[in-house]
Amino acid sequence: MQGQSRTSVAVADDQAFEVVRDATSVLHTHNLTKVFRSGQQETRPLDGIDLSVERGEMIAIVGPSGSGKSTLLHLLAALDTPTSGEVYFARNSLWSLSEEKLAEYRNRTVGFVWQRHHLLPDFTAAENAAMPLLVRKVALKQSLKAAGEWLGEVGLGDRSEQRAGELSGGEQQRVAIARALVNQPSVLLADEPTGDLDERNAEGIFDLMLRLHHSHRLTTILATHNSSLARRTDRVLALEHGKLAPALEPHPLAGLGNTQFANAGAKTPGERG
Ligand code: ADP
Ligand code: MG
Repeated sequence: MQGQSRTSVAVADDQAFEVVRDATSVLHTHNLTKVFRSGQQETRPLDGIDLSVERGEMIAIVGPSGSGKSTLLHLLAALDTPTSGEVYFARNSLWSLSEEKLAEYRNRTVGFVWQRHHLLPDFTAAENAAMPLLVRKVALKQSLKAAGEWLGEVGLGDRSEQRAGELSGGEQQRVAIARALVNQPSVLLADEPTGDLDERNAEGIFDLMLRLHHSHRLTTILATHNSSLARRTDRVLALEHGKLAPALEPHPLAGLGNTQFANAGAKTPGERG
């Protein structure tokens, strides 16, 4: 094994998360617990989750509806706060970050794909995909150019100018994936990204996510109901009764693309420039 090298990775322009390369997980949780209370009713979808995700891994989280998959992804994306326990990104406890850094984490480190695409139907595909850049106040022209390139990557190079509301379900999900990646995040979180699609479109979206995962050296965590798609990831974990446990044997070919760079210090968005 290589010696550990400490590198400051420019996740934010002016601030950096310290990343310990090699031998370390990029994202991990410790005793992560979420309790929802309404009146007398208490729901505990996450009950002491210890999850460790390696750089470059692709993980599927499976589990019945209501088991807490979305809750877990929202906590990993810092879109919600845990009741107790910690989420660490590159050894930084998320909830000890400043508001500014936390915003950077949400906007730039993590890309999120929802089951429903949440596109703005009256805006074009390019405008939708450019939204995270526009939020960061990147100039419109530059944002649309980057969005157009991502639309090309997701197979919609000729649809940039089309209104999102006029696209098919599968095409809309492709735009949502372009939008999730336009800031070049290092982590892609996807919450049942194929859940609303027919089998053929679901396959197509999954193939696309696999390809992007490898070509952009992402760390990807996706929740899915579809166990045959889940098996094509590196690792499948089942969430039930608040606990995560290994599930399903991975596909024999799963992860082959991953091992090519798993220990090679996959590049992060800052390094890709
Ligand atoms: P999944 O994504 O696996 O279907 P969720 O994470 O959406 O499951 O939900 C897990 C449990 O937490 C469910 O019982 C759900 O009703 C409950 N839950 C989720 N979000 C909230 C909330 N904001 N308020 C109260 N209960 C919630
Ligand atoms: Mg859900």
